[in-house]
Amino acid sequence: MAESRHIETQCIHEGWQPRNGEPRQLPIYQSTTFKYDSSEEMGRLFDLEAAGYFYTRLQNPTNDAVAAKITAMEGGVAGMLTASGQAANFFALFNICEAGDHFIASSAIYGGTYNLFGVTMKKMGIDCTFVDQNLSEAELDQYFRSNTKAVFGETITNPTVSVLDLEKFARLAHRHGVPLIIDNTFATPVNCRPFEWGTDIVTHSTTKYMDGHGVTVGGCIVDSGNFDWLAHKDKFPGLTQPDPSYHGLVYAEAFGKGAYITKATAQLMRDFGSTQSPQNAFYLNLGLESLPLRMQRHCQNGQAVATFLSQQEQVAWIDYPDLPGDRYHALAQKYLPHGSCGVMAFAVKGGREAAIRFMDSLKLITIVTHVADSKTCLLHPASHTHRQLTDEQLRESGIAPDLIRLSVGVENSEDLIADLRQALAAV
Ligand SMILES: *Cc1c(COP(=O)(O)O)cnc(C)c1O
Repeated sequence: MAESRHIETQCIHEGWQPRNGEPRQLPIYQSTTFKYDSSEEMGRLFDLEAAGYFYTRLQNPTNDAVAAKITAMEGGVAGMLTASGQAANFFALFNICEAGDHFIASSAIYGGTYNLFGVTMKKMGIDCTFVDQNLSEAELDQYFRSNTKAVFGETITNPTVSVLDLEKFARLAHRHGVPLIIDNTFATPVNCRPFEWGTDIVTHSTTKYMDGHGVTVGGCIVDSGNFDWLAHKDKFPGLTQPDPSYHGLVYAEAFGKGAYITKATAQLMRDFGSTQSPQNAFYLNLGLESLPLRMQRHCQNGQAVATFLSQQEQVAWIDYPDLPGDRYHALAQKYLPHGSCGVMAFAVKGGREAAIRFMDSLKLITIVTHVADSKTCLLHPASHTHRQLTDEQLRESGIAPDLIRLSVGVENSEDLIADLRQALAAV
């Protein structure tokens, strides 16, 4: 489809374009396997000599249609769905890192990703250095090693809603001959397209705004096709040396700009199998159709709620990049000119106890371990996800003991503000 179309149009029409007499809506290919007339044809698929479907663990037409839609939205060249956002981030790195390698990640990233990088991947022999994303380029330069293979960050971090300086990180990564991988979950391509700022690979937890209704866990990886693997041949042997599991095929030579996603599909999905179910891909596609409308409302509501909270006597502090006084407002204006997202962090005066009383007084807004869907919800990490930590330990992990993460949905903002007002009065 014409690349110049706007994202609202892409969200409706990209991916599945029915031919004459075919279903108007994206069909769910609820099939593990695909039939061929000759063993010759099937064999060519297994050798990656022909493109086609043979087993859903590797590829499925429903999934591919949805991945193609997200790829178009991001302005990339190839993409794939994964079973979760965790799987997307793991594969995005494991596709180019192996035991003995190292990568650099912002320390402000989502807790689940922090564990994956800092604990589990370490056990696999892949070392990660966490850095303060607000350091200068010269300071960040010092963390690179000869075995560094990638730089990782989030457009807007979860839960501290810090905006990453994408251009700074892209310059840094490229100066050291490695790709920049950005988790674009909170911004979505509706509000930021990281490839336009030099990012090489984008990941998503589609569980959040893309699905938007809190019904499916899923992930996605999109490649811009811009990183030149062959120019850094020694650093990325997985892409530039023969793959013995495919008769010595060299991905970067055989597939050009499609090499990274082809390898992740043909090798990692084949071996790890963290595939999204076609049924979930179908739900995700429905969510994507309304994503631009919802993001607009999430941002309008976010602005209204954040402005209200910032004016309340009982509120100790609030972080929301769209507020003029926010420490990330300048970066948000550059990278997120149409708004950031519906997530904000704030605190009620009076510490943990006040936070608990406030939350228990809410009537419309619910306490759930989720963010970024249509229903407004909140979470207090100190009494929920991180409750085993002391205040001291919380501060060490960058989370204030009084931090409340509020994810503003798409209800009417007056009703949300009324609920917040009565709960603040009860504190
Ligand atoms: C939720 C989240 C993830 C993990 O995604 P799952 O779909 O829950 O596996 C990764 N990154 C960010 C920014 C998230 O918010």
